[in-house]
Amino acid sequence: MRITDPGLKAVAHKYFSGERLDFQDAMTLYETPDFNGLGLLAHEARVRRHGRKAFFIHNQHLNYSNVCRNRCVFCAYAKNAGDPGAYTFSLEDVRNQLTCRAGEPIREIHMVGGLNPALDFDYFESLLHLIRELRPEATIKAFTAVELDYLSGITGLSIEKVVERLKKAGLAMMPGGGAEVLNDRIHKALFPRKINKDRWLEIIETVHGQGIPTNATMLYGHLETLEERVLHLLLLRELQDRTGGFSAFIPLAFHSANTPLSHLPPTSGVDDLRTIAVSRLVLDNFDHIKAYWVMLGEKLAQTALFFGADDMDGTIVEERITHTAGATSPKGLSREGLEHLIERAGMLPVERDSFYGEMASMEVQ
Ligand code: SF4
Repeated sequence: MRITDPGLKAVAHKYFSGERLDFQDAMTLYETPDFNGLGLLAHEARVRRHGRKAFFIHNQHLNYSNVCRNRCVFCAYAKNAGDPGAYTFSLEDVRNQLTCRAGEPIREIHMVGGLNPALDFDYFESLLHLIRELRPEATIKAFTAVELDYLSGITGLSIEKVVERLKKAGLAMMPGGGAEVLNDRIHKALFPRKINKDRWLEIIETVHGQGIPTNATMLYGHLETLEERVLHLLLLRELQDRTGGFSAFIPLAFHSANTPLSHLPPTSGVDDLRTIAVSRLVLDNFDHIKAYWVMLGEKLAQTALFFGADDMDGTIVEERITHTAGATSPKGLSREGLEHLIERAGMLPVERDSFYGEMASMEVQ
């Protein structure tokens, strides 16, 4: 391995002798001038776990409402009820969205939305029942810790009880959003009405305890420092040690268009790749690091497969949240399009289900 920075060499030695990296090591990874060396190191870690495999899933996103009472500073997606562009899907709307893709072998329905005071618990249970009826073969991956906390608040039910009922209605997995950066300073500045880091960690621990795996994300590239990013990763690693319930980590590059933070420059490609690489090396107890092509763009996501990422997410069909914040990537990709991106990178495309079970090869064709 051609690593030129002596500090990075020491971290590489530590990592490959099986020692866990600490805060200072993670900072060395973030700050090393040896960007190529960092990429080599993260790629080696990725290849040792997954070889040339690069995972993807045939999925569909459903964002049921953009009406949200929280109005986080960084969010371009949320509206007040009655604002131009505010929407809430009726069950009929959801039925139409699912049936118009009935011919596609969709493996996962990914569903999140705003905290809309007009929606009651029945709505969410009915949504899950409907999806299960129309897509019995797909895994329902839905709701963040923020939505669970909200549902607990409007019903008076404990988080355990909320999860139990949603699980009964069809919930099988949760995506990893809502934490943004696990840090009180950032919480106060950017999303004070949303749950804080302690509550997010507590809810996710409860969810894992009830047998529902989740992902974890980090929204980076706004007000946070590198130190705060590293502390976020270490908090996730600590929770994963206790529960083993995280499936994948997904760094999310912040898009500032249509937000009060639109003066902030976009993240650089180097920062995006560096963040993927640091995540791969620090999160030694996470199996998968995802390059979310919607936020990175297709070409950078493809490059990220050489900086520690092993998953390109999915076909998605119609992404709304990042596109309201100015993402210029397409709103969906075909399965062939994703396979093509992976193959052109010299990697092996592997279609997966929500739990990283590999689909039979004849279905990948
Ligand atoms: S980030 Fe989520 S909780 Fe915050 S305003 Fe947007 S939709 Fe609402």
